[in-house]
Amino acid sequence: MAESASQDVVRMALGEVDFDPQALKAKYLEERDKRLRDDANDQYIEVQGDFSNYVDDPYAKPMERDPLNDTVEIVIIGGGFGGLLLGGRLREAGFDDIRVIEKGGDFGGTWYWNRYPGAMCDVESYCYLPMLEELDYIPEHKYSFAPEIMAHTQNIAKHYDLYRNACLSTEVTDLSWDEAEQYWIVSTNRGDRMRARYVAMANGPLNRPKLPGIAGINDFKGHTFHTSRWDYDYTGGNASGGLVNLKGKRVGIIGTGATAVQCIPHLGEWSRELKVFQRTPSSVDVRANRTTDPEWADTLESGWQYDRMDNFNVLVSGGDQDQDLVADGWTDIFRNLTGIAAKQVSRQLGRRLSGAEKGHLMEMADYQKMNSVRARVDSIVEDEETAASLKPWYRQFCKRPCFHDEYLPTFNRENVHLIDTHGKGVERITEKGVVVDGVEHELDCLIFATGFEVGTGYTRRAGYDVTGRDGERLSEKWGDGLKTLHGFSTHGFPNCFFLGFTQAAITVNVPHALNEQAVHVAHILAEARQRGATTVEPSAAGEAAWLEEIRRTANMGERFRVECTPGYYNNEGKPDNPNGFFTAGYGGGPIKFFRILADWRAAGTFDGIEFG
Ligand code: NDP
Repeated sequence: MAESASQDVVRMALGEVDFDPQALKAKYLEERDKRLRDDANDQYIEVQGDFSNYVDDPYAKPMERDPLNDTVEIVIIGGGFGGLLLGGRLREAGFDDIRVIEKGGDFGGTWYWNRYPGAMCDVESYCYLPMLEELDYIPEHKYSFAPEIMAHTQNIAKHYDLYRNACLSTEVTDLSWDEAEQYWIVSTNRGDRMRARYVAMANGPLNRPKLPGIAGINDFKGHTFHTSRWDYDYTGGNASGGLVNLKGKRVGIIGTGATAVQCIPHLGEWSRELKVFQRTPSSVDVRANRTTDPEWADTLESGWQYDRMDNFNVLVSGGDQDQDLVADGWTDIFRNLTGIAAKQVSRQLGRRLSGAEKGHLMEMADYQKMNSVRARVDSIVEDEETAASLKPWYRQFCKRPCFHDEYLPTFNRENVHLIDTHGKGVERITEKGVVVDGVEHELDCLIFATGFEVGTGYTRRAGYDVTGRDGERLSEKWGDGLKTLHGFSTHGFPNCFFLGFTQAAITVNVPHALNEQAVHVAHILAEARQRGATTVEPSAAGEAAWLEEIRRTANMGERFRVECTPGYYNNEGKPDNPNGFFTAGYGGGPIKFFRILADWRAAGTFDGIEFG
């Protein structure tokens, strides 16, 4: 009876389904099992020592300057969207003495580093590029290309005068709290030893490139680099393509995630021969990019961007909206897979759906969606064996969904070969190339599109440790997982703030979340100034209460992620890692999280915070 009711719900939402869910589930689990490995995250090599050249900055030579021994009010670490938004909101709140410290040679963060050909953002630009109204700017396309995004980050820095006093090409090496003076001592790789009343860390969630621990990785005698440090001196061209130097070259690329999907069409176009070494295929749906319609832009009224960001955020968080302003692949997936479909059926039935009915409906909608993604491969890729290899066998959110219109057609080119490692990954790297299934593929150039560290300790990814009051180290305090109030600060580390993915909520449109965080931190600092306080930090009780809320909303053991094929979303098949991409966040979702912050600010009582 219950089963047939559940099937009725599915029929009402999806129509008659023409697939066997049991068979699909079995296939998904079989594909997952091929890829599960005990070493999980440890399969990757930390980019240091012999490998540190992979993270050198190919885009800028550090400017000569003397070490700094001065004092500033606020140091912001990171000049990406997190640092820029915080800098902007602090300026708006009247703070003047701000210094941004940035490892790259300019502002931009992820868009400074990721300049590979074809780099673009797959979240709609009118939502993704922050502060469009503040800067009176409208992006050129619905989905912006990397150079425009990087230029926008630099325009934000200019608009808020953040170049003044900034330290670019500078890496923080240590942060230590001086309790007697109530200042942070900030040390850097440029010999600086500056004092700061406040520090805010906006290091980004995917800032540290990772390399696969493939046997022989250091033996290759050809040219090699990571996609986040693209070597245009070697390939020629720029982010728009034109990789003329590859015309005579045999090129290999390891990895087929969101980055590879964007650069492979350009590599295919320019290389003499391209070999794509695939472990797991991405799910690649329609992009349909277009230029911005100036007439539409003229109709936009004050407040339009925040309304649009909210509308998108509600839809991609499983909520309902009368209108889908963005109406793209992201909102389409969520409309189908999350609570919205269930709500519509519930309205028709005049009753609430049970948890089991909702879960069943979501699973069936997911199979249907992924079937259409797989059918798209067949409709585009001519060679049957290649098409079969390019089909993803997992649920939609096991890996980041990709949207691209040139990726799949690239495999119809005669010079492009997909080397399917059937979930096992590359076997070995030799002096001459890459070995898969005992076959050596000789190459002139090998590109690593192998992503970024996720799931390792916070301070390891930051690249420095933080020493708080009484010599307590952040790496130790967070050794068994993060401990914060609202994700922003931690007891025993006064005047120190974190922006990003530390026990805050994650949303598809990351700059939206960063803006909410920036507004919040600026609000707290403004209050500290108003009170004449020299320190601000969470109380032990405030932190404990948030930790309890994090535990209450945690979704670590979620069956969904356990059943997923490995990737960074589920910590390479070990989803209970407390430092994980999702597990380190607030499980209640962004809508609720933003509301918690707004209510907290509106209450004006600064619950859980101590001003000293
Ligand atoms: P990913 O971590 O998503 O992909 C890494 C790739 O390397 C995977 O295909 C992985 O295979 C493969 N790989 C790792 N080890 C091996 C091995 N030993 N042999 C063969 N293949 C291997 O990194 P990306 O740089 O692609 O993307 C990272 C994130 O950056 C994205 O998820 C997204 O959040 C963001 N991004 C956003 C974009 C945007 O438009 N906003 C664009 C590009 C990136 P497997 O899947 O089997 O692990």
